[in-house]
Amino acid sequence: MFRFICPLCGQTLEPHPKVWLCAQGHSFDVAREGYVNLLPVQHKSSREPGDSTDMVLARREFLQAGHYQPLRDACLALLASLQAQTLLDIGCGEGYYTSALAALASEAVGLDIAKSAIRLAARRFCGISWLVGSAAHLPLADASVDLVCSLFSQLQMAELQRVLQPSGHVLLVTPAPDHLWSLREALFDEVRAHEPEKFLAGFEGAFELVVQQELGFVLDLTGPGLRQLLMMTPYAWKARLEKRAALEARVAFATEAAFSMMLLRKL
Ligand SMILES: [Zn+2]
Repeated sequence: MFRFICPLCGQTLEPHPKVWLCAQGHSFDVAREGYVNLLPVQHKSSREPGDSTDMVLARREFLQAGHYQPLRDACLALLASLQAQTLLDIGCGEGYYTSALAALASEAVGLDIAKSAIRLAARRFCGISWLVGSAAHLPLADASVDLVCSLFSQLQMAELQRVLQPSGHVLLVTPAPDHLWSLREALFDEVRAHEPEKFLAGFEGAFELVVQQELGFVLDLTGPGLRQLLMMTPYAWKARLEKRAALEARVAFATEAAFSMMLLRKL
């Protein structure tokens, strides 16, 4: 069973249908859509932290079109033999992956710092606890999570270790070195390879690597899909304006998505 803690005082947080309460009297309303905002104002880096609403909407359209379905299927296959009671998806966005991963566990929580993303997730998918919250202050009790999933999100090692139960698992998905290479070539004068190994290095000593798998597939995009992809990735914001405009004018573009999937076990 998941056990939630108050983001203000750390005491047990009791979920009720309309409000979540701790013994100190801190209360968090359940929103009309069914999510709970557990991000206190002092943990916010800005007024609307996380991905902007435009990014969230572009990503939702792109994912709903099925462009990254091979990745979702591969994650499910990789985790199929794990018997998790509790699954926490950190940086879950609008819930495209979470909604499928939830089938692997008895209980699932989707957490994201962007309220607009969580609101969309809660509207669309029921049977999952949707929380606005920070990866730096997870609102979950010590050793209460069997499986953490983190697709393209930042993790805080101390918090990850705290909430995972002994021998708990983490699924990490990051871009592989040549992810969207031709797209990035069209945007930048110089393209740098992504470094999944660097990402993995942060886990040494505290986790053992169970399996690492690379996944690559062609993305055949038409204009709308291309523009959604540009809007949802951080690349486009760093590109030169004229390069981005030239790319956005294309009616079709083919590139290759490449991901590194890593399953780790807590030592
Ligand atoms: Zn409290």
